[in-house]
Amino acid sequence: MKRYDSSYAKDRATRRPLKIFSSDPMAGSTSSNWVTISVPNEPLQPGPSGERLRVVDYDAGSKTYYSAVNLDDPSILMRGGLDPTESDPRFHQQMVYAVAAKVIENFERALGRRLSLSRRGRPLRLLPHAFRGANACYDDDLHAVLFGYFEASREDAGPNMPGQIVFTCLSHDIIAHEVTHAIVHRLRPFFQEATNPDVLAFHEGFSDIIALFQHFSYPDLLKHAIQNQRTNLRENTLLVGLAQQFGYARGSGRALRSAIDGTKSSTGEDDPDATNGKTASLYDTAVEAHERGGVVVAAIFDAFFATYQRRIADLIRIATSGTGNLPDADLHPDLVSRVASEAAAASQSILNMCIRAFDYLPPVDVTFGDYLRALVTADRDLTPDDGFGQRAAVIDAFRRRGVIPAGIRSLAEESVLLQEVEITARLPEQVLQTLSVAAQFVGRPVNIDTTDFESRSDQYQLSPERMEESEEAMTDVAKAVHEFAKTNRGQLGLHPDHKIQVAGFHPVLRVAPDGQPLIEIVIQLVQTDRLYVGELGGLPLRGGVTLVVRANGRIRYCIAKPLPEQGQDEKSPGNRRLKATRDHMAALDLRDPRMVSADDAYLGQRMTARSKLQAVHLGWA
Ligand SMILES: [Zn+2]
Repeated sequence: MKRYDSSYAKDRATRRPLKIFSSDPMAGSTSSNWVTISVPNEPLQPGPSGERLRVVDYDAGSKTYYSAVNLDDPSILMRGGLDPTESDPRFHQQMVYAVAAKVIENFERALGRRLSLSRRGRPLRLLPHAFRGANACYDDDLHAVLFGYFEASREDAGPNMPGQIVFTCLSHDIIAHEVTHAIVHRLRPFFQEATNPDVLAFHEGFSDIIALFQHFSYPDLLKHAIQNQRTNLRENTLLVGLAQQFGYARGSGRALRSAIDGTKSSTGEDDPDATNGKTASLYDTAVEAHERGGVVVAAIFDAFFATYQRRIADLIRIATSGTGNLPDADLHPDLVSRVASEAAAASQSILNMCIRAFDYLPPVDVTFGDYLRALVTADRDLTPDDGFGQRAAVIDAFRRRGVIPAGIRSLAEESVLLQEVEITARLPEQVLQTLSVAAQFVGRPVNIDTTDFESRSDQYQLSPERMEESEEAMTDVAKAVHEFAKTNRGQLGLHPDHKIQVAGFHPVLRVAPDGQPLIEIVIQLVQTDRLYVGELGGLPLRGGVTLVVRANGRIRYCIAKPLPEQGQDEKSPGNRRLKATRDHMAALDLRDPRMVSADDAYLGQRMTARSKLQAVHLGWA
């Protein structure tokens, strides 16, 4: 067929360019702050309103709907989206959509599968002007991300104008952070239950990691930082700071949070063993979720920085004739561009590792130690060759912050990796067959026109509502998985009496030692014990297991969180978990001013109230 006979020129473009602030309006209209990103090009209604994201611009403060931007309007398409501005709500709508779409795409690339974010057929909603207030949150009940707006401090607004209106929906980091909460909630719905001090902290830290590493995908911002900081990216506040404008507008004189903590990096000149020093590490002392989450953020950033330095070492040697001393004058633009591409590659690699780890996390009661093991295992499964020492760097960064997984003998990579199990039970053929059908879709580029794909992928990740439904409503495959779990509950570390919920199952791709791709299936099973609900402030005690299964039905990993059983001694894993939850509740009680005058109604649901992410986010202010 002749080129001009084919339809290629008329086919829908696969990508849509859109402009955003790479940081927020406070960073000005520099080329590194006004950036054009590209997101998958789905058909959009005014809103923008697409298949999985719907921007609803109702301003609850002034009780008005703002007119919705039509990103498919030819005049907007021709200029690659509206220019960044604080004064036009339609740009605000564009910005929340664009950043949210980018976050979703990052997850899908790393996980190698399509995520379904709709709830009862409704997409995730983004409300850029939801309320007046210095806050933003993901609201699970509304299935929406709500962004507030507020007046900057009149006394100390930093580079902001005193008293100016600050929109959280124009902060790249706040958008990315909140959308990540929504995705994490979808992948692990029980991670909103604060059964130990790490659970909510993980939610917060992980959301910051996604926001942070998205900075490194903006080439102009990266090159600017490399030139200005002589390749030392730790010193660039735009790159390593989170929510700059928000922090300054609240009068704190700095970004809201940062990827850098007090712990010295392994490449720093000071005492590398900070946790052996006299001061207790943040991980020992921090209870507040954002602060404690900062431990994971700083550890991951440290690991990134160590691998980045290894990647650019040869470039620096070439550029400095082997001395390693960069000149005081500007760096050569060629060097800046090569260093930037290494930084982008290092950040993408660590981001993939962070997201891929989700498939190796238990379904409930996560700890930072669980996350470390999942990180190392996920990375080893996907990239067996670790040329830049990324896994060792991650283990080292967690160790220096006092995060050591329970029950391992050493911090050598082999010990930190999840151990393969010897279980005779095999996953039934029916499930494996579905797996082989589903596997055709694993790792494929996301194609928004493949509606068939959406309907298929939807059945593999069961929403919380679907799980609550009766067994009859489950798909045949879910029923087969359920039957398998019931029959083999003893081997799988499940409680003998409690009901088993199939919380989700999906195929994943990994790399065999010979470099060949391998398909595996990940299954989440959850059990609930309501015996302790009253004592635990409304929190049901849940146990469960994540299974990683080979294509031949053999179970490879069994990542279990057992429930306590009658007659077990207090050292049993189930009883130890129960004790950890009790201890955590006691620690929160001590910090809760409402406990002085608490009535039975409050006491009976105080842990569920504290678990709400909205409540967590009031801590921002
Ligand atoms: Zn948060």
